Amino acid sequence: MSKALKCEFVEICKLLYLRGLAKAWGGNVSVRNGKNHIIITPKGTSLFDISLDNLVVTTLDGLVVEGGQPSSELPMHSAIYHARSDIGAIIHIHSLYSTLYSILKKPIELFTAESKILIGALQFVEYAEPGSQKLAGLVVNRFKDHSACILARHGIVVGGSSLKNAYYLAELIEEAAKLNFLKKLVC
Ligand code: 13P
Ligand code: ZN
Repeated sequence: MSKALKCEFVEICKLLYLRGLAKAWGGNVSVRNGKNHIIITPKGTSLFDISLDNLVVTTLDGLVVEGGQPSSELPMHSAIYHARSDIGAIIHIHSLYSTLYSILKKPIELFTAESKILIGALQFVEYAEPGSQKLAGLVVNRFKDHSACILARHGIVVGGSSLKNAYYLAELIEEAAKLNFLKKLVC
């Protein structure tokens, strides 16, 4: 297992927390590690507390090969990697503004050229219990033609070619949600 990849993974988890995209114990992150493995955050752990000592390594099919209990959303991460060979990293967060729209079930409009080009469109996935196979199935269905979606009453899931790419897309989606909110206030 690449130590450099693990270090980058820890850095991205902390960045998500420190930039306010992840709060408390919410959210999880994973990255492909070679052909058949993924590194994923442990269950019930704040992204701020992710370290080289608590990462979990599993096979693509969800068998733990290193570390403790993986994120409860492993079925969702695993299903996306199976369906999309172009996706190298996945971030799931409950970032404030995106989650607000996920509760209101109001679409997040993509006003800027940057968000339109890089995100394309943001579609909803109906509510399913966090960590369930049902949620994994609904999300993977959305990922057939999108690389991000909004989970009703929950948050967002973003897939990227790399950890950094997934991080920037997550940031851009949260920024788009914030813009929707501010536009409503001003206009
Ligand atoms: P985990 O701690 O199991 O990753 O769960 C956090 C979460 O956001 C569930 O949707
Ligand atoms: Zn969640």
